[in-house]
Amino acid sequence: MSDQTERLLADARAHLLETYRQPAVVLERGEGCRVWDTEGRAYLDLYAGIAVSALGHAHPALVQAIAAQAGKLIHTANYFYNEPNVRAAAKLCALGKMDRVFFTNSGTEAIEGAMKLSRRFHFAQQNPTRLGLVATHNSFHGRTMGAVSLTGQPKYWEGFDAPIAHVSHVPYGDLDAMNRRVNDQTAAVFVEPVQGEGGVLPAPPGYLQGLRDLCDRVGALLVFDEIQTGIGRTGKFFAWHHEGVQPDIVCAAKGIAGGVPMGAFLVTERVSKALSPGTHGTTFGGNALASAAALAVFDALENSPLMAHVVAMGEHLLAGLSALVAKHPEVAVAARGRGLLCGIELAKHVDVRTVMDALRAKGVLVSTAGTSVIRFAPPLVVSRDELDEGLSALNDVLAVSMKALP
Ligand SMILES: *Cc1c(COP(=O)(O)O)cnc(C)c1O
Repeated sequence: MSDQTERLLADARAHLLETYRQPAVVLERGEGCRVWDTEGRAYLDLYAGIAVSALGHAHPALVQAIAAQAGKLIHTANYFYNEPNVRAAAKLCALGKMDRVFFTNSGTEAIEGAMKLSRRFHFAQQNPTRLGLVATHNSFHGRTMGAVSLTGQPKYWEGFDAPIAHVSHVPYGDLDAMNRRVNDQTAAVFVEPVQGEGGVLPAPPGYLQGLRDLCDRVGALLVFDEIQTGIGRTGKFFAWHHEGVQPDIVCAAKGIAGGVPMGAFLVTERVSKALSPGTHGTTFGGNALASAAALAVFDALENSPLMAHVVAMGEHLLAGLSALVAKHPEVAVAARGRGLLCGIELAKHVDVRTVMDALRAKGVLVSTAGTSVIRFAPPLVVSRDELDEGLSALNDVLAVSMKALP
């Protein structure tokens, strides 16, 4: 290992909070679906920084948009409009089929905004005690106090006095359970159209429509967390576009600006009025630099056959993962996903982190989801050959895992 890498690793270990389990790898640059570390080693990126780098690394149009905007105007706060932000808002609403948008800097902030708006909506209707927020078991909505409370995984609550009051959880995909929980004290229901961190679990058919009907019946708002599934990831701009079930609020982030930090919550006109001047805000959200990056991503999704490519590559990936399940039934039990968000569930006795580490040793980067799923969320521009390279590496790793069985 070079002296430079050694020094970086020593400083990382001395000065960064140890909230992640990072291996001894320092990534330095990328191009397309490849990244290189400081040792000059190349990796195939099939996780895209957790479903973020939608256009891959160093995409010329994205680089050009960011560089040009940086030389012009980076930030003004929201005292004034800025051109890239206004254009990004219009385009995002058109692509997302929503009316208005509030830009944030992350997914968790988009969720916080949606939580605040949900309560404020009922407050504005003279119903200030209608505070209930219902989410699902095994969901993931972020790490700030509100969002972590919605996150239906008790391991994320420990020591934080979470969940906050009036938040509750029911099993995902279970309409009866939701029907029993939701009532006239429910402000909003929060659901991911595909549970991402929970293990790449698509909603069962009819679930989203059932939630819509239920929310309409009791007057609760329906919020889709599309932070992972949005911005073309599943082959439509938002995953809810597959079903045509219109939410009142939809949260986005991850791929929205190709890796520049940005999030957003989009709303229908009807609920938008509840957040009047002074009720919500952000210093950085919607700044010109992030907005210019977002516009480059929206242009790529709008003006190229990229969405059709996501559908085709997603089918290829899922077929490949399914074939691996058929081939290695002792270690792989299921493959599932939508578009380019796919997962392969490993048997209980197989450690997912070991499989992820073995893939990295072969030069392929993936992420885990839940306790037993290897997740593939590559850049949307990924090629068939690149997917095949990843699938072949996984085949080798699973073959070894099977041999290691007692
Ligand atoms: C990643 C994610 C979040 C949190 O986003 P951050 O930008 O990490 O705050 C929330 N919900 C879902 C579904 C996510 O995948």
